[in-house]
Amino acid sequence: MKKAIIIGSGIAGLAAAVRLKLKGYDVEVFEANSYAGGKLSEIKLGAYRFDAGPSLFTMPELVDELFTAAGKNPKDYFNYQQLAESCRYFWEDGTQLTASSNRAELFKEIEDKLGEPPANLEKALSKSAALYDTLADLFMFKPIHKLSTWLGPKAFKAYTRLHTLNFNRSMADENRRLFKTDKAVQLFNRYATYNGSDPYQAPATLNIIPHLEFNRGAFFPIGGMHSITQSILKLAQDLGVSFHFGHKVEEIKIENNACKAVMVNGQWHSADLVVSNMDMVNTYRKLLSNQKQPERLLRQPKSSSALIFYWGIKKSFPALGLHNIFFSDDYKEEFDQIFNKGTISSDPTIYVNITSKMQTTDAREGGENWFTMINVPNNQGQDWDQLIAEAKHNMIAKLSRLLKVDLAAYIEEEDYLDPRRIESKTSSSAGSLYGNSSNNPYAAFLRHPHQHHSISNLYFCGGSVHPGGGIPLSLLSAKQMVDYYVPEAK
Ligand code: FAD
Repeated sequence: MKKAIIIGSGIAGLAAAVRLKLKGYDVEVFEANSYAGGKLSEIKLGAYRFDAGPSLFTMPELVDELFTAAGKNPKDYFNYQQLAESCRYFWEDGTQLTASSNRAELFKEIEDKLGEPPANLEKALSKSAALYDTLADLFMFKPIHKLSTWLGPKAFKAYTRLHTLNFNRSMADENRRLFKTDKAVQLFNRYATYNGSDPYQAPATLNIIPHLEFNRGAFFPIGGMHSITQSILKLAQDLGVSFHFGHKVEEIKIENNACKAVMVNGQWHSADLVVSNMDMVNTYRKLLSNQKQPERLLRQPKSSSALIFYWGIKKSFPALGLHNIFFSDDYKEEFDQIFNKGTISSDPTIYVNITSKMQTTDAREGGENWFTMINVPNNQGQDWDQLIAEAKHNMIAKLSRLLKVDLAAYIEEEDYLDPRRIESKTSSSAGSLYGNSSNNPYAAFLRHPHQHHSISNLYFCGGSVHPGGGIPLSLLSAKQMVDYYVPEAK
């Protein structure tokens, strides 16, 4: 049997393990951490459980597909439910809005609370759906580095619609044209953060993102986000994939333009092919340091990072739901601080995710597990201790003000995640959440392909390669890599 070695068990590494096994390979996964999942893991603090990283789940069918491909019933491994509301929004002037998954209710709520005419929402969401229809096949579901992608019928349809794709206008400019009210513009600009970008720089093409949440729906995995990676891990193990946790790969051996082995704890493990699910910048810099470095790809600007406080709160807040956003007053200033000044605004937009709203066992009785996050720049060597102390003060003050409580008095457990920790826990370059940012119209073309250009048995998958970061795209990266590049194991 031909041997495939995978470096890393992030969600794409796990999906690749399943798909390579189904393609006939003997698969071994080396993972630096003592657990699987990478960014998609969990932490426990006293009586509270938290999903450590991702909290928003869209396109669950991409997870189901792994089980059906293996001839299993997905429901035996992984279950989820569609959310009745996608998010609750709060502004400093007291405006509150619940974004229902029911379109008529959503439009009415946005009209009642923000004064935004339903016709504008209808137009924005149909434009978002049209972008998805034109671009998803090319930029999400197929590898852009294959000529066949650009010669198919979907590509020709896109060529005739280029003028509708808004590559040359920023997301914020387009939303300003679509909506009458500042708050609706801000709400829709927020979708740039779903891949760590800046709405004032990113092309309006990113307006494809609201389609996934508003038109196709947001979901909650039973057991929390962590169950996504746990269920794929279980599937891989059931199929016979071997996992070595706490085994960090130190080097990839290349001879005559072919991968021969990986080094772990000073020992070589030979393989017929190697897949890196490690961030691609660090794969080159740390594991392939003797090889030519694709500098242009490696130097692309990275996405934003995050500062998260995991707070065990000994109080319940009926006004809050699973996903909550407390907007800043000056969104442009906030992104200017993050992307141009490399620092954190004194009035950051705060996201609070509370899974105990869905599963009460995630918090102690009468309490809630708050995953409290703000967007921050990636790690450029800032004085993080100072920035974190200031941000924590500002976050507690803002939440206390808007919820009319002394929040600090209710925090009984605390831990945090910052760009330095994201980098050290997952090897993510500069602690970025989504690999490269999408702040320029050509970003999609400047992500690393799934296969090394000259070492043909070296492959890449995960959020730092094509088609990009986030759970759905990371899963698609593994699928494209195996379906379009890796040969059958003969
Ligand atoms: P990663 O999760 O990056 O894992 C890589 C793995 O490789 C790690 O386990 C690491 O230990 C291992 N590894 C690295 N180097 C080595 C080595 N040398 N040897 C062995 N093992 C190694 N996405 C969403 O869809 N929705 C969200 O709401 C969302 N929110 C997010 C919030 C946060 C705070 C973060 C951090 C991310 C968020 N994301 C979200 C993004 C999403 O988590 C990532 O895009 C996705 O999980 C990346 O998966 P990956 O397969 O690239 O691997």
